[in-house]
Amino acid sequence: MIADNLQQVHERVARACAQATRPVRSVTLLVVSKTFGAASVREAVAAGEHRFGENYVQEGVDKIAALADLRAQLEWHLIGPLQSNKTRVVAEQFDWVHSVDRLKIAQRLSAQRPAHLAPLQVCLQVNTSSEPSKSGLRPGDVPEVARAVAALPRLALRGLMAIPEPAAGFEAQRAPHRALRELLGSLQAQGLALDTLSMGMSADLEAAIAEGATIVRIGSAIFGARPTADSLKPSVA
Ligand SMILES: *Cc1c(COP(=O)(O)O)cnc(C)c1O
Repeated sequence: MIADNLQQVHERVARACAQATRPVRSVTLLVVSKTFGAASVREAVAAGEHRFGENYVQEGVDKIAALADLRAQLEWHLIGPLQSNKTRVVAEQFDWVHSVDRLKIAQRLSAQRPAHLAPLQVCLQVNTSSEPSKSGLRPGDVPEVARAVAALPRLALRGLMAIPEPAAGFEAQRAPHRALRELLGSLQAQGLALDTLSMGMSADLEAAIAEGATIVRIGSAIFGARPTADSLKPSVA
């Protein structure tokens, strides 16, 4: 079933790319495995996937350990909220962090990234819905933080990430993705070498790809509905 779902997701991505006249390989699928166990990840690996996203640090670390035999071929991305007391294990174990939302977190990740590993790949999370309760940087604060993060050693600032409010309809879904794309464009115009827009989930991947997403983060369309979705939903979603 996971393999069938993956095929359907790849078909959706391919259609959205064709619609947007973008090459399929310009969009990377990040398989969001939060709440699903190591066995589900193995199934996705058997179907050809190797990039996985986790929301919760401890769950991610446990899964990385359970899949240690596959570590060399997998890429692990943290996409959920990160508190400063959890940065060390993330710096030591993950390949990417999409959810950097303040400079202090980036400074800690930079200081704690082991020298023998490749630089930690990071995105800044932006609150495109401008609701005060949401996590993510306010768009107006992004340029200054981006310049500071880009200057840190042991990190590679790659781009921006957002989790827009659920919206019905293609045009309504496009608006926040467009805002993120324009923000990335303004950072690039200021000389920052960024190449990543992490946006688009199961419900809105077409709209995200139409607006330039380079990484789509897909969970439920691959693994099915998450168990006890309400209690497990990140506070930011
Ligand atoms: C859960 C989650 C996803 C995947 O959402 P689906 O709707 O299941 O595809 C993507 N990004 C983040 C940050 C998430 O927390």
